[in-house]
Amino acid sequence: MKAAVVHRFDQPLAIEDVPTPEPGPEQVLVRIETCGLCHTDIHAARGDWPIKPQLPFIPGHEGVGVVERVGAGNTHGIEPGMRVALPWLGYACGDCAYCNSGRETLCERQLAMGYMMNGGFAEYTVGYARHVVRVPDGIASADASPLTCAGVTTYKAVKVAGASSADLVAVFGVGGLGHLAVQYAAITGARVVAVDLNGARLETARRLGADHVVHAGEEDPVAAIRALGGAQAAISTAVHPSAFEQAFRSLARGGRLVCVGLPAENEMRLPIFETVLGGLSVVGSIVGTHLDLEEVFALHARGKTVIERTEVPLDDVNDAIEAVLDGTAGTARTVLRPVWVADQIEPPRRLDHAVEPAHEFDPTGAFAPGGVIGLPAHRSGGTVVRR
Ligand code: ZN
Ligand code: ZN
Repeated sequence: MKAAVVHRFDQPLAIEDVPTPEPGPEQVLVRIETCGLCHTDIHAARGDWPIKPQLPFIPGHEGVGVVERVGAGNTHGIEPGMRVALPWLGYACGDCAYCNSGRETLCERQLAMGYMMNGGFAEYTVGYARHVVRVPDGIASADASPLTCAGVTTYKAVKVAGASSADLVAVFGVGGLGHLAVQYAAITGARVVAVDLNGARLETARRLGADHVVHAGEEDPVAAIRALGGAQAAISTAVHPSAFEQAFRSLARGGRLVCVGLPAENEMRLPIFETVLGGLSVVGSIVGTHLDLEEVFALHARGKTVIERTEVPLDDVNDAIEAVLDGTAGTARTVLRPVWVADQIEPPRRLDHAVEPAHEFDPTGAFAPGGVIGLPAHRSGGTVVRR
């Protein structure tokens, strides 16, 4: 099968023929239709982070495709012919305290797709049946792919932020992750302010429901957000620590910074004095659970989210990476197709025309009546009794 393989961290990915993997016990073999290109894949391919993948490996954690075969043992209801997504959380043990308290993303025995297991930049990928997530009919694979990481990650971040309808939520960085963070924040009913260095992205954010946009190259985002009263929650998907520091300083008293992006540069500096006096909190949010991704798909199937994306052949993955890095990618997400069948490809979806923004307050999942929302220490969160 064809795959994009990382052999060295200082070289481009190699498009090559590798053996098609065999599904082991409780695993499934998926014929990949689409796989999104996430910034994490670029960090993985370049060995940017403290824990590096073992070489060689195949990146990709937004793979979506059709189950071709299943391995021995319990396949958890997954059968050949089903369309599934292969998210970052490729495996979790199912036995530990984290796995048994709805926090499987913190499992210490987890295996990350496209990092510790071979990922979706290939014609076929093997996943664990318990961790693949079914994609509902009616969602295009090219939409399901960005939802599989960018979507679930930001949906979870909004839950962790505890955002509610009276809040101002700041989203720092409105690329692949951020353009979805804006939408999920808007769905809670909160006012949303989007911050970026790219004017076109800010226009996109506005069309997706941002009430305010701040061009961080033209004005100080901290002053601009404080002028709005300060943010009850700030979600940073940015790729530089300075944006996290700005996000922190833009918080209102009692506010919460949710760190989502993973810059190659690992440290940020925060003032202790203001943290204590302001009762501020800082929390990390890593991807989302199986259930979170099901909720993300359900929201999309109901037309509540819009994905801005371009499809390109997997063969062009190195050009696609360069375009993401130099800001010329054109849309928030690039989606790779290992098999390029011209009549299956949709034209790029750029949100330069009016779209249906998702900012009416019409929540599902955790935001729905009866849903349990996150309980930030500074809030009287709890069960949603009505909306
Ligand atoms: Zn990702
Ligand atoms: Zn576990």
